[in-house]
Amino acid sequence: MPRYFIWTIGCQMNKAESLRIASYLDFLGYQVAPSLQEADLVVLNTCVVRQSAEDKVLGTLGLLKGLKKEHPNLFILVTGCFVDSNIEGLKRRFSQVDFFFKPGAYTELTNWTQLQGISTAAQEIGPLTSPSPCAFVPIIQGCNKFCSYCIVPYRRGREVSRPLEEVICEVKGLMKQGVREVTLLGQNVPSYGHDLPSNPDLADLLAELNSIDNLARIRFLTNHPRDMSRRLIEAMASLDKVCEHLELPIQSGDDDILKAMRRGYTVEQYRKLIRAIRYHIPQISLSTDIIVGFPGETEEQFEHTSSLLEEMRFDVVHVAAYSPRPGTIAGRKYEDNVPPEIKRKRLNKVEQLQANIAAELNSAYRGKTVEVLVEGEKRGKWHGRTRSDKIVFFENKDDCTGQLVEIRIEKTSPWALQGKVGYNN
Ligand code: SF4
Repeated sequence: MPRYFIWTIGCQMNKAESLRIASYLDFLGYQVAPSLQEADLVVLNTCVVRQSAEDKVLGTLGLLKGLKKEHPNLFILVTGCFVDSNIEGLKRRFSQVDFFFKPGAYTELTNWTQLQGISTAAQEIGPLTSPSPCAFVPIIQGCNKFCSYCIVPYRRGREVSRPLEEVICEVKGLMKQGVREVTLLGQNVPSYGHDLPSNPDLADLLAELNSIDNLARIRFLTNHPRDMSRRLIEAMASLDKVCEHLELPIQSGDDDILKAMRRGYTVEQYRKLIRAIRYHIPQISLSTDIIVGFPGETEEQFEHTSSLLEEMRFDVVHVAAYSPRPGTIAGRKYEDNVPPEIKRKRLNKVEQLQANIAAELNSAYRGKTVEVLVEGEKRGKWHGRTRSDKIVFFENKDDCTGQLVEIRIEKTSPWALQGKVGYNN
């Protein structure tokens, strides 16, 4: 039986897309190979958001060039953000690759497998198997925002939403496999639907999904603050299966830096948005993203970001040091002039500050009982997440994967909670 290996780096979108491709290859009769070297067909699902990620892709393509020489029948497929609009140019540069396809271009993939005689009929690609009770469902590809530092709109293209009925059908299919939680994915999920004929929006989709039996929880990420409408916030507040957790990247706490980033909002507008969300959903937990060391960022501008983090008290902060991406507006226009040691210092400061805030926020869970959807077992402990997206560890003698379990929290840290089982359903 032929074997495949899928090499994936990058965001949750890539991981979800790799699962879909794996399901399709399973359907075609392929088996999973234990390593890239032992496969008959390799898919690279790539990320180029950071230069280091692109370097890994180039390194793996180099390795595959050698493998292809040894095994000329090896099929090499490349997808993800590495595949830009100049596919002919990519073909010339990487002659070892048999097929390049853009993220989510599944019809092209199925056509290619037919052309190669790997499949005999057109077959829809769907998530036929889900290894976890929590599944990721891409609902929108691409981004229309063009933040100055970001390569995504150039590689993934403009926003394209999946039809509402198709998403609902897919989620219903996942329910049959025991999935209880879905996370709707996209580069900017609140923008969902504007390109579809009947203009449904994310609030409409959430309402439809909320009525599906046996589905326990719905999440979505990631979200541009400008597209978080009042209607969407109200839908989140009123639909019982939509979890009280939101990822809302701010990127900087300084207006001039936000302008240079072309984020399209001011700190005060973001502050007002958070106030509205906390008013409608008081128990909301919030995550954000921060870039430190953006070109020209002064000490004072960085301090504005630190103070904003102290004021907002996010549950989670993902922080990254700026690195220029060729092909972006910032890469062309701005000099990367914050020294690496200053970037590192600022990054460490944000991490330390956030660890203290998260430790305080999480300590409030001590003594409380929370509902946990159990995702699996690791080193003798079961783990899952609360509706607020806190990771919880606990001991239990029976397998309770996929169950909603009541856990009384006894210990907390900035990163996780630990407790004892109450009762399940
Ligand atoms: S919203 Fe900005 S950062 Fe996010 S994917 Fe779009 S362009 Fe990139």
